Amino acid sequence: MIRKLLRKVFRRAATPINTEPALIPATQHGIRREQLSSAARKVCMTLQEHGHKAFVVGGAVRDLLIGHPPKDYDVATSATPEEVRALFRRSRIIGRRFKIVHVMSGPETIEVSTFRANQAAEDAVTDEHGRVLHDNVYGSQAEDATRRDFTVNALYYDPGNEQIIDYHHGVADLQQKTLRMIGDPRTRYREDPVRMLRAVRLGAKLGLTLDPAASHPIREMAVLLENVPAARLFDEMLKLLFSGYAVRCLKQLREEGLHHGLLPLLDVILEQPLGERFVWLSLENTDDRVRADKSVSPGFLFATLLWHEVLANWEARRKNGEHNQPALFSAMDEVLDRQAGKLAITKRIVGDIKEIWALQPRFEKCSGKAPFRLIEQPRYRAAWDFLRLRAQSGEIDSALPEWWDRFAHAGHDAREQLLADVPNVGAETPERKRRRRRRKPAEAATATEAS
Ligand code: ATP
Ligand code: MG
Repeated sequence: MIRKLLRKVFRRAATPINTEPALIPATQHGIRREQLSSAARKVCMTLQEHGHKAFVVGGAVRDLLIGHPPKDYDVATSATPEEVRALFRRSRIIGRRFKIVHVMSGPETIEVSTFRANQAAEDAVTDEHGRVLHDNVYGSQAEDATRRDFTVNALYYDPGNEQIIDYHHGVADLQQKTLRMIGDPRTRYREDPVRMLRAVRLGAKLGLTLDPAASHPIREMAVLLENVPAARLFDEMLKLLFSGYAVRCLKQLREEGLHHGLLPLLDVILEQPLGERFVWLSLENTDDRVRADKSVSPGFLFATLLWHEVLANWEARRKNGEHNQPALFSAMDEVLDRQAGKLAITKRIVGDIKEIWALQPRFEKCSGKAPFRLIEQPRYRAAWDFLRLRAQSGEIDSALPEWWDRFAHAGHDAREQLLADVPNVGAETPERKRRRRRRKPAEAATATEAS
C-alpha cells in the first residue's frame, strides 16, 4: 500500500524510446568485419542464417571505434535464450540476474543476450529506492538500446553488412569524447546505482568526459550504493582495479564523492594511514601490467592493499612476546577476518593472499638450505614481486630483493658465493626501520623519495 503510494508520488516518465536509428556504413565508421573475433562473427552469422537478428553490441563496438582491442564480445539477438542454446552445441544458459547464453567457440566465450526492455516504467519491480529487481522481460531492438546505460554502449554492429545501428547518437558522442547517459541520469542511477561506478570506470578507461548531467547527481546519490549486494560491488571494483586505469579511476571516484562507507574496498585504499605509498605503487604497477597485457591477480593486489594492516598487527603481537612466524599467521587471520567479509573477497582469493604474505618472512633467511626451498615454491615469483614492491615503497632495504633475484638466477657456484655473502639488511621490520630512521633521518627520507 505505502509502496504503491510512494511509486505514484515518484512516478517517472520512462526513457523515451527512439525507433529511428542512424544507419552508419563502414565507409564512415571504418570497422571491417575482419576486425571482429572469428567467434563473434560466427555467432552473429549463424543466428542471422536462422532468421534472427543478431549484432555485436556494447563495449566491443565502442572499443573498436576508438581503436582499443576489445576485451570480449557481447552479442544481442532477437532469438530467445532457448533458441540460441539450440543452435550452438557448445553453449549453456546462465541465469544470474537475467537469462543469457554463453556460446563457446575455440578459446572464446561469446555472451549472447536476447533484446530486453528497460523496466524503468511503472510496471518494473523496484525496491523502495527505485532499484530494479527483476528485468527479464524481452523487448524490441529499440527497447534494448534504450535500456543500456551510455549512448556509446548502445551501438550495434552487423557483421553481415558492416553497418552500425546507432539509436542514441553514440558515434557522435564518442567523436566528441563524451560519456552521456541514455535518458535521465537520476532515474538511471536509481534503477541501478552501479552505473555511477561504471561511469567513472568507463570515463577513465576510454578517456571520455562524463557529461555534467550525469556527473552532477553522483555526489548526492552515492548513498544508494549501500543497497547494492556486496558481491556485485566487489565484481565491479575488480573490473575497476584491473581496467588498466585504476589510479585514474580511484582519484576520480574520490573527486566524485564516492567515498567513505560506500565502498569498503575504496576506504581501505584511500584511507590508508600506514601504507599509502605502498598501495599507490602497487596500483600503478597493476595498471602497467594490465596495459602491457601481462597477467595480474586479485590475490596479489589485495595482498598489497592489506599488507600494512598486517604489518602493524604483526608488530604489536611481537611486542607482546609472540614468536615471529605464529605472530604473522595470527595477524593475517585477524586482518582477513575483519576485511574479507566486508569486502566480499572470495575464499580462493583469500588463499592466494595468505600464500604471498606467509612467504615474506622466509626471505629473511639467506643461508643454509632455506633459500633453495623457497625458490622452488610455486608462489615464489609472486612473493618476490611483492618483496620488491615493499622495497620500492621504502619499507625494506632493496638489497634484499636484489640478493634473491641474483640467487634465483645464479648457477651452482655463484649460489654458494651468494650464501657466503648474505645481505646485511635482513628483512627490515617496521621496528628496525624506525630505529634506522631515528639514526639517520635525512638519509632514510632520501632513500624513500628516490625508490
Ligand atoms: P567493458 O567490457 O569494457 O568493461 P562494457 O561496456 O562492455 O565494458 P559489460 O559489463 O561487458 O561492459 O556490459 C556490456 C554492455 O551491457 C554494456 O556496453 C552496456 O550496453 C550494457 N550494460 C552493462 N551494464 C549495464 C548497466 N548496469 N546498466 C545498463 N546497461 C548495462
Ligand atoms: Mg564487455
